[in-house]
Amino acid sequence: MTDSPALVRPDRRAELAAGLARVRARIADACAAAGRDRTEVTLIAVTKTYPAADVIALAGLGVTDVGENRDQEAAAKATEVAAAGAGPRWHFVGRLQRNKVKSVVRYADVVQSVDSVRLASALDVAATAARDRPLDVLVQVSIDGDPSRGGAVPGSADPDLGLGPVAAAVAAAPGLRLAGLMGVAPLGWEPARAFERLAAFAAAVRVEHPQATVLSAGMSGDLEAAIEHGATHVRVGSALLGMRPTLR
Ligand SMILES: *Cc1c(COP(=O)(O)O)cnc(C)c1O
Repeated sequence: MTDSPALVRPDRRAELAAGLARVRARIADACAAAGRDRTEVTLIAVTKTYPAADVIALAGLGVTDVGENRDQEAAAKATEVAAAGAGPRWHFVGRLQRNKVKSVVRYADVVQSVDSVRLASALDVAATAARDRPLDVLVQVSIDGDPSRGGAVPGSADPDLGLGPVAAAVAAAPGLRLAGLMGVAPLGWEPARAFERLAAFAAAVRVEHPQATVLSAGMSGDLEAAIEHGATHVRVGSALLGMRPTLR
């Protein structure tokens, strides 16, 4: 038995409210330290592994954007949240297989993890068929150039995986809108160094595609460094909802 989504337990609601207050304060402090306006940074609550009831509670606390990384889990949760009358923006932030694009375009408002020309094409076909307006897309960048962990590779000789070709494919796709870039600091890298590189890649992409203004960077452990280097969206899970039972 799961709790009815409309009935979030009061203790969990208080826990989420406290987590949200802490994360919002961190974002505000980081904006102040970077000389940026607080309104420039959007918090995305990454709710993977947590139930729809938590999403509904967070929406009730003013969270406008949520992130998920697995299609099956996200599709079910989005249905449950919509049935409860809540309408956050859904960001798909996980690795996306081409056989999942038909499902993802039905509930996602933004797909942040497009990292190949072939995936962009498949997403375009699915979005064109299922939606009445283009799907916002961020191109995920491999900051260290290692494509095995996902991400388009700046300067790659592979025309399917290069950052330039992937951004151009998204920009040219009628069913998609190139909104910007997403990146994850590579393991073992100093976050500031990673996000400085990501910002440079974003600036280069904007030369060709000035509409690509979104920079999704920073998670629970490194959101301050990301905001210092221009993040417009931070993706925060554990600092907001608690430690996840499994690593993913
Ligand atoms: C899980 C996840 C996050 C959130 O990570 P936390 O460290 O829990 O804040 C952010 N981005 C992506 C792509 C994720 O998969």
